Amino acid sequence: MNDEHRNEPEMLNDAPGMPCPECGFRIRIGMRDLLRSRYINCPKCLLQLEVDREKSARSLELLQSLSVALDNIEELKHQKPG
Ligand SMILES: [Zn+2]
Repeated sequence: MNDEHRNEPEMLNDAPGMPCPECGFRIRIGMRDLLRSRYINCPKCLLQLEVDREKSARSLELLQSLSVALDNIEELKHQKPG
């Protein structure tokens, strides 16, 4: 078994986004947009996804803390040593 998780989706590697459930197109959406928007539109098939805040409250909470963490990392990046 030499599976090296090659097929695993890139999570925090690339631009944030999620695959469209309809056409599979990678919808690029920032976490902040995701947290603020009620709807996400797929630019390819124009599918409108409703962000179900009640159902995804926990995930959104996690995303929010992650978003804050990422913000902190960004801030650290900008603080150049010296
Ligand atoms: Zn789509």
